[in-house]
Amino acid sequence: MRPSKVARATGTGASVPIECCQVCGHAPLDAVLSLGYMPPVNQMVPVGQAPQQQPWFPTTLLNCRNCELVQLGLAVDPAIIFPPEYPYTSGTTRLLRDNFADLQRESAAMLGLGGKDLVIDIGSNDGTLLSNFKNGGQRVLGIEPTDVGDIANQRGIPTIKRYFGAKTAQEVRHEHGPASLVTAANCFAHIEDVHAIVDGIVEMLKPDGVFVSESHYLISLLDTLQYDTIYHEHLRYYSLASLKHLLAMHDLEVFHARPIPSHGGSIRVYAARAGAYPVRDSVRRMLAEEPRGAAMLKRLDAFRADVILSKLRLLSMLRELKEKGARIAGISAPSRASTLVNYVGLDEGLIEYVCEIPGSLKIGKYMPGTRIPVVDETKLYSDQPDCAVIFSWHIADELAPKLRSKGFRGQLISPLPAPRLLQTKT
Ligand SMILES: [Zn+2]
Repeated sequence: MRPSKVARATGTGASVPIECCQVCGHAPLDAVLSLGYMPPVNQMVPVGQAPQQQPWFPTTLLNCRNCELVQLGLAVDPAIIFPPEYPYTSGTTRLLRDNFADLQRESAAMLGLGGKDLVIDIGSNDGTLLSNFKNGGQRVLGIEPTDVGDIANQRGIPTIKRYFGAKTAQEVRHEHGPASLVTAANCFAHIEDVHAIVDGIVEMLKPDGVFVSESHYLISLLDTLQYDTIYHEHLRYYSLASLKHLLAMHDLEVFHARPIPSHGGSIRVYAARAGAYPVRDSVRRMLAEEPRGAAMLKRLDAFRADVILSKLRLLSMLRELKEKGARIAGISAPSRASTLVNYVGLDEGLIEYVCEIPGSLKIGKYMPGTRIPVVDETKLYSDQPDCAVIFSWHIADELAPKLRSKGFRGQLISPLPAPRLLQTKT
């Protein structure tokens, strides 16, 4: 059954509590974890601007006992979460670029995509995903509401600058015809009224068209304590079981699923109209490994306890360093850093600045909710602080050797899943 009451924050300029499950309408939902109040992660104030009033939103993770969807307890107006100046570009991370190239290879081979096939990407960002399909010879179309869509258009990836919904889907189908493949990479958890999104996706698909979603994976989130990926962009935290349940409500059948490394652990899920493709064994295998029912409730309880301890352990480690007079910086300012910084209570007294690679749109702004400035990474090498916390710790293995080869001599700290020094001081 679809929910009778959908939390709609769009157009309110504010937020709306989620009072029943976004997928099945079940109420009440059980609280899993509260991270307190959080600032919007993408409204970063320019350095030097006087502190001023800013909205903070309660950040509570809820669980639906009926369909087992883990979800946020509050929907915030997308105009606040995805402002036109949205600073995130997927093309800047090698891991994501490689993943999208892999998605094109895998799906084009599996579905036999040719030159006539239309591939539509929802939340297409800077066009990085679609550029692979364009190079593969497919027709491509992006749908992206923020100014990042301009980058895609400049790169020759045709992109409509709109929020995705039923109306956009109808217009796209009318203008461009039905799609062989619709992709949604890491935005399928973001858009409120999930049933309207899936309706829109089904509307755009050919009879044997395929929908591929890539979403951060709840089980990875729990296993490696990635509470820092909980923020208001992410309304839903999918297991394969909960995603399968949602898609089945729209007569879409999951026929292939597999883990991928994006964002510290994601799942790529292939779905089509029931019976269109044989269901692969990958689906059964992944489902069998997921905790369900009472086992999931126990897992969520343990997660809460571990998150609280991890906060105390990180503070304890930083306290020891500060007592020795250490100067501490931060490495990289992904959205998830905002949750970690604000939940743990890090401020400019503890973290002097956070470095981003040259060209990042975040340089010259303060970390959300704080007065910690984001600076060009070159400062790290000239300044040589005693230690640096890697906020994009999920790619620490990719980052640490780079930081060393560029000359950083201080200690490197990974804050999660357990705070630890990555390498001894060189
Ligand atoms: Zn539910």
